[in-house]
Amino acid sequence: MKTRNYQHLLESIVNSTAKQEGDFPRTAELATELLCQQLAVKHVGVSEICTDSDTLREVAAYGPQFKHSAHRPIPSLCPNYLQALKSKRHIASDDTKSDPRLAEFASDYFKTRGINASLEVAIRINGRLEGVLYLERKDYLAWTESEIHIASQVADQLALTLATHNAYEKDERLTLLSSAMEQSEQISMLVNLRTDIIEYVNQAHQEVSGTPLNKVLGKPITRLDFFRQHPEMANKALSRVKEGLLAKGETEITRSNGERYWLRFNAKQFITQRGNHYALISAEDCSEEMSYKKDLERLAWRCSLTGLYNRSYFNKELDKCSEGHLFLVDLRGFKRFNDTYGHEKGDELLIEVARRLRHFARVNKTDLLARVGSDEFAMILKSSVQEGDLDYMLKRLYHQLSLPVLIGRDNVEPKPAIAIVDIASVEQLFAPLTCADIALQYAKKKQSDAIQVFNNALLNAFKEDAQIERDLQTALRSREFELYYQPLKDLRSKNYIGAEALIRWHHPKKGVLYPGAFIDIAEQTGMITAIGEWVLEAACRQLNLWQHHDVTISMHVNVSARQFFSGTLYDQVWEMLTRYRIKPGTLILEITETELMEDIVYATNLCKELADLGVGLAIDDFGTGYSSMRYLKQFPISKLKIDRSFISDLSVSHESREIVSAIIAMASALNISLTAEGVETQEQEAFLADHLCHQAQGFLYSPALREADFSAFLSQEQAGQLIH
Ligand code: C2E
Ligand code: MG
Ligand code: MG
Repeated sequence: MKTRNYQHLLESIVNSTAKQEGDFPRTAELATELLCQQLAVKHVGVSEICTDSDTLREVAAYGPQFKHSAHRPIPSLCPNYLQALKSKRHIASDDTKSDPRLAEFASDYFKTRGINASLEVAIRINGRLEGVLYLERKDYLAWTESEIHIASQVADQLALTLATHNAYEKDERLTLLSSAMEQSEQISMLVNLRTDIIEYVNQAHQEVSGTPLNKVLGKPITRLDFFRQHPEMANKALSRVKEGLLAKGETEITRSNGERYWLRFNAKQFITQRGNHYALISAEDCSEEMSYKKDLERLAWRCSLTGLYNRSYFNKELDKCSEGHLFLVDLRGFKRFNDTYGHEKGDELLIEVARRLRHFARVNKTDLLARVGSDEFAMILKSSVQEGDLDYMLKRLYHQLSLPVLIGRDNVEPKPAIAIVDIASVEQLFAPLTCADIALQYAKKKQSDAIQVFNNALLNAFKEDAQIERDLQTALRSREFELYYQPLKDLRSKNYIGAEALIRWHHPKKGVLYPGAFIDIAEQTGMITAIGEWVLEAACRQLNLWQHHDVTISMHVNVSARQFFSGTLYDQVWEMLTRYRIKPGTLILEITETELMEDIVYATNLCKELADLGVGLAIDDFGTGYSSMRYLKQFPISKLKIDRSFISDLSVSHESREIVSAIIAMASALNISLTAEGVETQEQEAFLADHLCHQAQGFLYSPALREADFSAFLSQEQAGQLIH
């Protein structure tokens, strides 16, 4: 009877819809209810094991007058109990309170509920414990074999239900996953790495690439646009994946209709449970992001006027270069052009120069072209070139840049200066751009083609200059400067009527330095202002002493451009004149012709003001610059000093003789006094005297002398004069 009932019970479970649908909780409810009704038990329950934490969770429970509080409390950890069930299929206990296998359950539970026997049956799938079916009764009654049997069979049915449930869940997860993949805007692709065949690709691929799925699915990966258009990059990525590495990148691809888009991909290998190697590729259209990035880059990295890269970008790229040639191009006189013609025309000139450079870069395949300063451009040529080719290239560039540009109605001739640096040769020592800057300074000084290749000699000269610059900082304070005086002779009266103050530097290590070694540096660094002030004061102090001792000579003081245009020269001179009570007409400032022409309006005004103070102005090195007669006339110039290059050429050059005669004639017409510089021979003196040149200065008479020697020289000469 019982057996039939048990059979019926089992069938009810097996045939229940809950069981067939794999609904584990409902099947468990049914099972507990049926078991409770059919067996002499008080309470039946099912709990499930949470596999990740190895703990139990109640799924169903049933008992007559079953109340909520009657639930079997499940301990959070019950390793012994679980272990017993893992090794045996069941625990049949008829004395719950003393059974060690149940000791992990709160013993009061059994006590308060009056449960004395319990049967715990493992629910197992493939031998793995998945849950427990337990039956409880009050009597100390051993569990019969048929009871254990039916409970075990019910447990098996529950295991089956759970297995179905899990399978359903897995299946649903897969469906979910694949439909999510199909919905996704990201491309997903599976490629069999043994055959290189695309075994899966989602709909997104067609949308992004414009290629129908049937042309991709089941086809070799090499058919993809990516492989056809960027074979090198694509094959590299595939090899990486095959090596088990992650491959990722961004690339621009053209669709069959000619449209272009940016693709970002990443791919990695995975191995299936059966050991097959696949590549899982995900990719997306990142065109929008790239165009946004490009816009940002354009703003951040480009010069808005010329469209070329800017300095920041160039520097960043240059940092990555360890070889190749760096070209630096500067436009000489651009600032003046800009000031004279206005900024709009200046911009036009820059745009045209940029266009020429771009053309040059394209033809010569230079890698990077940038505008790195207001009138400075830089290029990098990464490929190696023969020296001869480089020379030719530079000459062409120089020539192209020098061609006239029509701006408005003016034909403007750009005056480029070009510097080149072999990056590999300087890389370890200095920043290539610094070297290019140095070479550029030398290029700018050249008379003919202003092209300079950076070399060791240049580097040494630069280092030397840098040392001089450092030493100059302390020279004034350490009183290392001294003025020497070179006499000026009146050719008619044969008397010495003036002295030119020439600065000398007693360098603590290098000995006596001449102005050629440091004046330019002082000028560039601005230190000339302080030095110039010192010179003016020292010369005026000396002049005052001479005047005090009735030595009637004039003092010539050299003034640099920066000092002249500083805006403070007038005040300085005025202060010196008053402090040292200098007689009018005895202080003469010398400034070179080229420097004076820098700002004609300013220079004219200042000259007039100085003339009002009784200070003369001499144009130094006359003949080497570009002054025009018109300006000479309007300047209140008191003296011209003919550059010594004409004098030294007098005996050999007919031209020099003509020029000197012309200068003398002009000075006399304009009523300007004249001094010939660098007179070294009697013949030169004779020529000058014959042509009525007023004064002469040079080694024929004396080099520049220290003050004491100069005074001695003067007295000696005076004595000589008296004897004659
Ligand atoms: P400068 O004003 O034309 O000075 C004349 C230069 O010619 C001096 O060179 C002088 O020593 C040299 N000299 C004079 N007679 C002869 C000669 O017969 N043959 C040859 N070959 N040379 C002769 P120094 O003293 O080396 O000065 C060079 C330049 O440095 C000066 O040219 C002047 O432009 C500048 N300089 C000198 N002292 C000062 C100064 O205190 N301030 C400024 N700003 N510049 C100065
Ligand atoms: Mg001078
Ligand atoms: Mg001179």
